Amino acid sequence: TYEQALQQAKEFILEHDDYLIVSHVQPDGDAVSSTVTVGWLLSCLGKKFTMLNEGAIPKRMDFLWHADEIMDMSQQPPERKYNRIICVDCADYRRVGLTEQFFAEDAVILNIDHHPTNDAYGTVNVIKSDAAATAEILFDLLEMFAVKWDVEVATSVYTGLLTDTGGFRYSNTSPKVMSIVSQLLTYGVDGPSLSENLLEEMTFPQMKVLTKALQTLTMSEDGKVAWVVVTLEDMEECGAVNEDLEGIVNYPRNIRGVEVGIFFKVINEQAVKASMRSAGRVDVAALAQSFGGGGHVRAAGCRLEGKLEDIIKIVVGRVKDEL
Ligand code: 5GP
Ligand code: MN
Ligand code: MN
Repeated sequence: TYEQALQQAKEFILEHDDYLIVSHVQPDGDAVSSTVTVGWLLSCLGKKFTMLNEGAIPKRMDFLWHADEIMDMSQQPPERKYNRIICVDCADYRRVGLTEQFFAEDAVILNIDHHPTNDAYGTVNVIKSDAAATAEILFDLLEMFAVKWDVEVATSVYTGLLTDTGGFRYSNTSPKVMSIVSQLLTYGVDGPSLSENLLEEMTFPQMKVLTKALQTLTMSEDGKVAWVVVTLEDMEECGAVNEDLEGIVNYPRNIRGVEVGIFFKVINEQAVKASMRSAGRVDVAALAQSFGGGGHVRAAGCRLEGKLEDIIKIVVGRVKDEL
C-alpha cells in the first residue's frame, strides 16, 4: 500500500547517509521543488546529500530553498559516484538522463513519483499515480518525520503542486491538493507572487518563441488534432532557451473542439521531442509510452528519432487512430 511504501521510504532515508538527489532532464516546477524538498528534509535530519540535474535549473525557480546548490552537470559534474540515490518525479530510469553516470554500480535507489507509466525501477518505490504532483507525495512523506514545517519548504511543496496542476486548474486538482495547499498557506506561503513568477511572467525571448510557434499552427481536417512546431533556428533567432518553451503546448490544445494538442520541438537533425496534451478522450500517456516516452493520461511526452515531417505524420496519424 501507499502507507507501507512511505514507511519504507522513511526507513531508507533514516538508515543511510550521503545521498544523491536527482530529477528528470529539463526539469519543471515539480522536479526542481521536489529535489530541494528532499534536500531540505535530509538537512533537517543532519544527513549529507548532493542535489544534481542533467541541465540548468530554470531561472524563475532560483528562489527555491538552496536551488542554486543543485549541481548542473554540464557546468560542474560531481567528482565521484554515489551509493544512495533518491529520484524524484522521474517516470522511468532514463529520465534521469546523464546523471546516471554518478550512480555507483550497486547503488540503491529510492524512486518517488506520480506518473502512471512509472515502471518501479527503484530499490524502494513510492509511486502514487493519482497524486497531482511528486510534491503531494513529499508532503505526506514530510508528515511522517518529526520535522517542523517552515515557509521555505512549504513554498517548495506549493510550487510543485501549483505548476503540475497548471495553477490549480487541471483535473488533478483534487480535494486533497486543496487541503494541502490550505495548510501550506498557513505556513506563510505567498500564493499570488508564486503564480505571478511561475505561471504568468514571461521573458521576452519566451514571448517571441511563442509567436513563432503559433505561426506554425496546423489543424487536422476533422479539427480534433492541432499542433505547433519550434525549430533550433527559431530558438536561436529568439534567443530562447528550453525553459522558454513551457506552456506552448497548451495553445493548440486549448482550441475549441481539439482533443489532442501537440508541440513538436526539433532537438537536432535526427530527433524531435513531442509534447502532447489531451482533452480527456485520448490517453496520451499510453501513446507516448508506445513511442518510448511516458507521462500522464492528459499530459505526456516522448522523443522520436527521424525527420520532423515524418515524425509529425507518424504521431498525428497515431493520435487519429486513437480518436
Ligand atoms: P512535457 O510535455 O511538459 O514535457 O511533459 C508532460 C508529461 O510527460 C510530464 O509529466 C513529463 O514528465 C512526461 N514526459 C515528457 N517527456 C517524456 C519522456 O520522454 N519520457 C517520459 N517517460 N515521460 C515524459
Ligand atoms: Mn515533472
Ligand atoms: Mn510531476
